[in-house]
Amino acid sequence: MKKIKEKSKGVIKKQKMTRLIRLSVLFLSITGLFSILYLCYGLYNITNQYTNMTRRDYLTTETLQTLEEQLYQHQSYIFEHVVSNSPEFQDSLEKQTSGLKSSMSSILYALKDEMKDTKFDIRYKSLSSNIFGYLYDAESIFEMSHNGESEKANIYMEESLMDYINTVNSVLKSFDNMIREDMKEARTELENNTKKVLIHAVLLFIILLCCAGTGIVISIMISNEMTNFDPVTGIPNYDKFIDVCEKKHMRKTFSEYAVLSINIKGFQYFNQQHGTDFGDEILTEYASFLRKATNTGEIAARINGDTFIALIKKDRVPVIADYIKQITLNIHRKDGTRKVVVNSRCGIYETAGNIDVSTALDYSETALKEAKNSTNSDCIWYSETMTESEIAAKETIAKFKDAIKNEEFSVYYQPKVNMIDDKLCGCEALVRWIKDGQTIPPFKFIPVLESEGYITELDMYVFEHVCQHISKWKEQGIEPVRISSNFSKLHLKNKRFADDVLEIIEKYGIEKKYIEIELTESSGYEDFDAMTEFVNRMKSEKIYTAIDDFGTGYSSLSMLKDLDIDVVKLDKSFLSGAEDKAHKKMIENVVRMINDLQRKVICEGVETRQQAEFLKSVECYLAQGYLYDKPLPHDEFEQRLLNPSYKIK
Ligand code: C2E
Ligand code: MG
Ligand code: MG
Repeated sequence: MKKIKEKSKGVIKKQKMTRLIRLSVLFLSITGLFSILYLCYGLYNITNQYTNMTRRDYLTTETLQTLEEQLYQHQSYIFEHVVSNSPEFQDSLEKQTSGLKSSMSSILYALKDEMKDTKFDIRYKSLSSNIFGYLYDAESIFEMSHNGESEKANIYMEESLMDYINTVNSVLKSFDNMIREDMKEARTELENNTKKVLIHAVLLFIILLCCAGTGIVISIMISNEMTNFDPVTGIPNYDKFIDVCEKKHMRKTFSEYAVLSINIKGFQYFNQQHGTDFGDEILTEYASFLRKATNTGEIAARINGDTFIALIKKDRVPVIADYIKQITLNIHRKDGTRKVVVNSRCGIYETAGNIDVSTALDYSETALKEAKNSTNSDCIWYSETMTESEIAAKETIAKFKDAIKNEEFSVYYQPKVNMIDDKLCGCEALVRWIKDGQTIPPFKFIPVLESEGYITELDMYVFEHVCQHISKWKEQGIEPVRISSNFSKLHLKNKRFADDVLEIIEKYGIEKKYIEIELTESSGYEDFDAMTEFVNRMKSEKIYTAIDDFGTGYSSLSMLKDLDIDVVKLDKSFLSGAEDKAHKKMIENVVRMINDLQRKVICEGVETRQQAEFLKSVECYLAQGYLYDKPLPHDEFEQRLLNPSYKIK
């Protein structure tokens, strides 16, 4: 099955899907990144808040405690001083007071930094003015007692200093309470913030989960699309088809259906003549036609190239088979819509018993192969004999390699006669397989070898034997004739075909005039370019080429005009209707046209004297057929070379 170039819609669809996946991944990454940043920011804030809170808590509590301790200590000193009134003590108290003053200054200064809040600021100011008022008063008391005014100092201390002391104490207390309140507030705020961040984190996590879930669903959908649907046509692919069949098989409903293997006739032509984009359009439209033709429970899928498969309810098979034989598709092009008629071949297998899915598919493919080889029916129902011949074909392939090695193939020669003088003028080399003493005719193995690609090896084998025989006859002094060898069209796919032919001729050192290459008329356009190139190369090497079975292919006449071939071999079917007047006229005109084009014309399958006479009357003087000889083994043909006259017949 030829693979066509799969691009256009399929590739575009794939690109779109890839873009969608990329966008989903990008979206997920950005959302994820922002979520992480947001959470980090939240955590940073909480940590900051917490650190500040603990630091301030620690600092303010510590500071206030120190303040309190130092003040209480100082107060008790003052009391002691006032009570004792001793000058030494007073000196040390003064020193202590000035020390306290500077220590108070630095403590309050440190505290000031933390008191940014206005409510704290007011307390702070009151605290510091009270403390410094207290210290100032303490200094006044020292002065009074210094000046011997102990009584005044006592009264003053009782009246005002006590007041200050109480005020400082109460301010310290209220400050302390305020800090506790503040701490409580800060803690509650911290708790709330933490809760908020946690809620956000949970929400973000849910959003991320949803995004990831959506991404996974999209990816599954995309991969499902890619694994189950054909990228070119958009209809199910082989895997999906098998899946549907297997499910039906499990539910025991598979036996209600028939499997149809469908192939578009001459699809290669659309690709070659109008380009692969046009071919893709046809495939897409054809697929959509098939999809519309299926009912619920039925399925149509594309396997590859121009081959489709469908599962259809048994009672609808005749309608569908008839429907798909020839359909008209509307192909939309930039320059407008074109109507294209598409013919199809179809192999049908109506499931029976509990047959498994893969065997059912094989049977429908076997029927399709049969339809491809059939000249009178495009839709063929599977029958058991097809499998038998398939098995036989497989056996042939299996035995072929050994047969080549064991030289089981033998070359027969069928003479060609010039009917003007009834003399041998050439011959055709025809292969025979001699297996276990039995001679197997070509029709039993050539088509199989051709369809499996082994024919090229056999052709070269035959050609090499032909060259070997020519060289031997020359050595023996026997003059050979020009011998034509059959070459399958498959050789045209090989770029070295002409070189291979020339190498063999050279290997046996034979003259090129003894060689003729027979190619079968090309069916359609596919090999025409390669054929032209090969024929021209042979022409330049002065090697004859012949077109075999002329009149059985498609484009015989136009091909003759464009191909610089030396010999045209009319197919034996030409002669089968030669009793009819119109048919005779047709042969006469074909022969004249070939003669006018300066090509040699030979007719094969000449069996009767009347046929020979008729051919001569229409100026076709070369003949090959049972009238003269059947294909002969080497030794018998050698006798013909020695005695080349057919006059006595
Ligand atoms: P072909 O090349 O068209 O060969 C002519 C076929 O017609 C031969 O059949 C020949 O035996 C048969 N024939 C000749 N005269 C008459 C006649 O008067 N009446 C009838 N009914 N038939 C006649 P054969 O040998 O069975 O070969 C069949 C085909 O097999 C050939 O058709 C050719 O296409 C293919 N073939 C044979 N040998 C080779 C080969 O080495 N390579 C390839 N590629 N194909 C080969
Ligand atoms: Mg031939
Ligand atoms: Mg032929």
